[in-house]
Amino acid sequence: MNNRYDVVVVGGGPAGLMAAGKAAMDGGKVLLIEKMEKPARKLRITGKGRCNITNLKPLDEFLDEIHPDSHFLRDAFKEFFNTQTVQFFNDRGVKTVVERGQRVFPESGKAREVSDALIRWAKSHGVEIVCYASGYTIAIEEGKVKGINIGLTEGKRSLLHTVECSGVVLATGGKSYPATGSTGDGYALARECGHTIVTPRPSLVGVETDPVLTDAAGLFLKNVNLALVVNERLKAEEFGEMELTPFGLDGPIVVRHSRTIVDAVDKGNRVDLHLDLKPALSEKQLVARIQREIQANPRDALTGIVRKLLPQELVYTLIDSLGLAAQKPARRISSGEIEAMVGWLKKVPFRVTAYRGWDEAIITSGGVSLKEVNPRTMESRIVKGLYFAGELLDLDGSTGGYNLQIAFSTGWLAGKSVAAALQHE
Ligand SMILES: Cc1cc2nc3c(=O)[nH]c(=O)nc-3n(C[C@H](O)[C@H](O)[C@H](O)COP(=O)(O)OP(=O)(O)OC[C@H]3O[C@@H](n4cnc5c(N)ncnc54)[C@H](O)[C@@H]3O)c2cc1C
Repeated sequence: MNNRYDVVVVGGGPAGLMAAGKAAMDGGKVLLIEKMEKPARKLRITGKGRCNITNLKPLDEFLDEIHPDSHFLRDAFKEFFNTQTVQFFNDRGVKTVVERGQRVFPESGKAREVSDALIRWAKSHGVEIVCYASGYTIAIEEGKVKGINIGLTEGKRSLLHTVECSGVVLATGGKSYPATGSTGDGYALARECGHTIVTPRPSLVGVETDPVLTDAAGLFLKNVNLALVVNERLKAEEFGEMELTPFGLDGPIVVRHSRTIVDAVDKGNRVDLHLDLKPALSEKQLVARIQREIQANPRDALTGIVRKLLPQELVYTLIDSLGLAAQKPARRISSGEIEAMVGWLKKVPFRVTAYRGWDEAIITSGGVSLKEVNPRTMESRIVKGLYFAGELLDLDGSTGGYNLQIAFSTGWLAGKSVAAALQHE
C-alpha cells in the first residue's frame, strides 16, 4: 500500500467494487480497503448462493419496490440500471437467466461467479485491493477530504497507516449478517463527518409469533396468502411462499411484509398476520370440497379428511387448534365442525411478538440520510470529496434483486463522480 492515491474506497462489497472499478476505469489511482480476509463475502451468499443480480421490471415498477425515497435513485439508474447490469456481467463471461418475477440470476446458479467477475474487472482497471484493512477515520480540512486513517491487521499485529487522497467512497454496507463484515462501521465514519444517520433497523426479516406451529416447523408453504393487520386494520396482503419456523414465520411473503411490521412493532402497535392456506377457494367452495371428501370417504377418520386438505405436518395442528376428535368417523363430522375447519384454513391467526435480529435480516433499512447526499453524484453535501454507495445509504428494496441493483447503480455513479471531480482539481 502506498501513501498517496486519488481515491480510497472503503468496503469491498458490490457497491465498493463497482465504485472502485469505475473510478479506476475513468483514470483514477484507486485503493479499495476491505476489512475481511477477502472482498464480497456477502455477495457470495446472496440468493441462497445463486445471487439474484437484478430485476428486469421497468423503471417505475422497480422504483415502487424501494423505500423510503426511491426517486433519489433516478439519476443513478439513468447512468446504470438493470439492463446495463445484465450486459456488464454478460460481457465478463457471466451468462444470465431470467426467472419468475423478472429476477435475473447467473445461469450457472453460482453467486461466486458474479463476485469473481466483479473483482477481476476492478483489478483489470488497476484497483489495488487490500484486505484486513479497516477505514478508521477520515481526515478533513476546510470541508474537504484530505486522507484516511486505515487500521491494518497483520497476524496478531495491528498497524495504523495514513493515506492521502482527495476522494473517499464509503461503501461499508449495513448491519445485517455481521459475520460477512457488514457491522455498521460506516455509520460511525459518516457521523464523524457530520452526517445524520436514520436509525438502522433489520429488514427483510422473519418474525416471532404466538402461536408457533412447532409440529410443522421447517415446513415450506406454497401458494398461500398472508394478510398483515396492524391495530386491527388490514395493511397489506402478499401471495406466494413462506416458511413455518421454530420461532414463528419466515420466507418470501413474510419478509415482504417485514418493513411495515418492524416499524409497527417498534411503535408498540399490535401486529397480526392472518394466513389463508386455501386462497384459491372461497369459504363456500371449501365447505363443498370438504363435504365431497366426506361423501367419498365416509369410513375415514377425521385425520384422513384433513390430510386431503393439508400437508401431514399441519393435520394435528388444525385438529388440536379446533379441539376436534382426531379419530371421529368422517360421516359424523358436523356442519359446525366443517365450518370451523374452513374458518381455520382461511384464517390461521398469528400475533407478532417480535422480529428476528441482525444475524437473520437480509438487509438494513435506515442509514445515511438521503437529504445530505447529492443524488446526481452520490457526493456528501457536507464534506467535499466524500461519497456514499450501497446499503449504507437510507435505501432498501424488497426481495427480487433490487438491493444489489441499488449497490451496483450507486457504486457506479459514485465511482464516475469521484473520478470526474479529479479532473477539476
Ligand atoms: C443472505 C442474504 C441474501 C441476499 N440475497 C440477495 C439477492 O439475491 N439479491 C439482492 O439484490 N440482494 C440480496 N441481498 C442483499 C445484498 O447482499 C446487499 O444489499 C448488498 O450486498 C449491499 O452491498 P454493499 O456493497 O452496499 O454492502 P456489503 O455487501 O455489505 O459490503 C460491505 C463491505 O464493506 C466491508 N466493510 C465494512 N466496514 C468496513 C471498514 N470499516 N473498513 C473496510 N471494509 C469494511 C465489509 O466487510 C463488506 O465486505 C442479500 C443479503 C443477504 C444477507
